Amino acid sequence: MISVAIDGPSGAGKSTMAKRLAAELGYLYVDTGAMYRAIGLYALRHGVDPKDRPGVEALLPEIQLDVRLEEGSQHIYLNGEDVSAAIRAEEVGMAASGVAANPAVRAFLLDTQRELARSRDVLMDGRDIGTVVLPDATVKIFLTASAEARAERRYKELLEKGEKPDYNTVLADIVRRDEQDSNRATAPLRQAPDAILIDTSNIDAEQSFLLLKQTILSRV
Ligand code: C5P
Repeated sequence: MISVAIDGPSGAGKSTMAKRLAAELGYLYVDTGAMYRAIGLYALRHGVDPKDRPGVEALLPEIQLDVRLEEGSQHIYLNGEDVSAAIRAEEVGMAASGVAANPAVRAFLLDTQRELARSRDVLMDGRDIGTVVLPDATVKIFLTASAEARAERRYKELLEKGEKPDYNTVLADIVRRDEQDSNRATAPLRQAPDAILIDTSNIDAEQSFLLLKQTILSRV
């Protein structure tokens, strides 16, 4: 089985790139961030602070997550409800980052993630895929860009969606999430020693895609 791990900070374009690459290479795309987001959403809906570790841990037995591939894209079901759209809200991203620091949450998701990679070729993106989830991945990539470049892209995306974002708030959120993800004790965001670093601060989406594709194809 071939497994490609793409890790990196939020807003680096991992999921956009990973989705396109997986479709073109014929691998299953697994978005692990969506799983943390679904748990974050569940905590918010139940009035539990995402950073309240015992509180969130107590919710886990009530949570049934299902990842299904529908018309080529990953859909995530939380107790039978398709929450693929609901988990994209900004506050759910922050809640995801809160629950993701909880070792019980990470253990809860680890088996599901490994199981997905056992029987087919996968391209999995997240923060700890190359370091923890798939330490023997065929190819490991650490995809990053400066906080300013990521904030600018996110800002433009929000404008295109018809929202009225404030650039400084977007940048501050990115910096805060980077800090939270990099400084936690369990599975922090870190480049695996054998991962290839790709920095897209100064290249556009098309150039990034070609560089990623070339990097993967030269190693599988
Ligand atoms: O990638 P995405 O922004 O959807 O991830 C949401 C949050 O989930 C991240 O900020 C991170 O805290 C957490 N996450 C993680 N490990 C992963 C994927 C996501 O801790 N493999």
